[in-house]
Amino acid sequence: MKNKRLAQWLQDHFEMLGRIDSPDDGPFHMALYESLCDMANSGDTGLVDPILESAAAHAVAVGRSLTDRLSVPQLRRERNWQRIGLEIDPEPAFAMLTDVDAAFVYIIRTMIDAYEEGTKLAHAAKASEISRLYTDSKQKVMEYAAEMSRANRELARLEQAKTDFISIAAHELKTPLTLIQGYVNILSELEATEQINSLVNGIIRGTSRMDIIINDMLDLSAIDTNQLELIIEPVNLKPLVDLVVAHLEEGLVERKQQLEILVAETLPPIEADRKRIYQVLKQLVSNAIKYTPDGGKIGITGTAVGDNGRETAINLKIQDSGVGIAPEDRPKVFEKFYRVGDSKLHTTGVTKIMGAGPGLGLAIAKGLIEAHGGRVWVESPGFDAQNMPGSTFHIELPLRVQPQSQVTLKHLDE
Ligand code: ADP
Repeated sequence: MKNKRLAQWLQDHFEMLGRIDSPDDGPFHMALYESLCDMANSGDTGLVDPILESAAAHAVAVGRSLTDRLSVPQLRRERNWQRIGLEIDPEPAFAMLTDVDAAFVYIIRTMIDAYEEGTKLAHAAKASEISRLYTDSKQKVMEYAAEMSRANRELARLEQAKTDFISIAAHELKTPLTLIQGYVNILSELEATEQINSLVNGIIRGTSRMDIIINDMLDLSAIDTNQLELIIEPVNLKPLVDLVVAHLEEGLVERKQQLEILVAETLPPIEADRKRIYQVLKQLVSNAIKYTPDGGKIGITGTAVGDNGRETAINLKIQDSGVGIAPEDRPKVFEKFYRVGDSKLHTTGVTKIMGAGPGLGLAIAKGLIEAHGGRVWVESPGFDAQNMPGSTFHIELPLRVQPQSQVTLKHLDE
């Protein structure tokens, strides 16, 4: 029972108990009303009889009837009296009640019963309303679930179509491209005018850029279709980092960027595919160069990590002082074809500022690192092309390769 509601309800219906004409009755009515309210607040409606009994006893003691002004029909009074006689044990004070006072007691009792009955009905109505709402929402949830699973199937179909397209396009383009590259190489060796040589060089630059993109598509297709093969050997990371930096030296100089390498020679070697790890490092360092303004800083750090004093993995950090990455873009940059911002603003240079490619580099890097049983992630305070908050890409590689089940391993010493 909601006791506050009962108190309010009593207050609303108290008028029905009789108007107070005599000022002497005021405090008495008030005391009665307050004890009923206390009872309502304590939630114990069983107290109504003792309260009314003592009220009636008081009324008898002061020689006034409780319900002087309450007009209860004679027939009702008799029936009430009978019922009270049947239901209530006539205690001494109760025995002193006049029949009208008894009707008063009865009316209050009936009102409280009606209240309780009303509350029960309201609860039942609420329960049936809740059950209807529950059925409706269950139905809706089932409809949404069916809709979701339809959408998921469609997404999976589209994802598969994308994977098939990448694979078919890359394989179909690779052969004619190799042919063109072969002819262009022959052309470049022929005696020709300066103008022809410059045109041939243009074709060579274009075809080698296409070659990089097609190789990226083939890598991605191998990752997506679980056809990746890793050639495993012990790999020392410091010389590999040095090699990557040497290959990107030109870009660093052109962009006047400072590079700091903090990778100890003494780091334990990891079991890995040397070419693949080189590929990932080159991708991350060239991204750092691209997304950092001229004169910015790039740092490469390598540390051994482990538990209980035992080294189990290597953590490589590639940190830049560039534009940074917004929180909502951080997980997405590892998705294929994802590029932050307007793709029309991008250029295709490997180290040119903001020179984004087709958005495959980080997807491939993630696929290759995970194929070794490692993980890659990025931290950044956010994107800000004015204040340059920077980004830090982390790679964690286990010392002993832990390939995913679909990856084929070939050990070099086999
Ligand atoms: P792309 O070939 O376009 O460079 P990536 O997969 O290498 O593709 O990168 C995806 C997107 O992630 C880029 O378009 C760029 O917006 C963002 N990104 C990658 N590296 C960095 C970095 N170091 N700083 C800021 N943004 C970066």
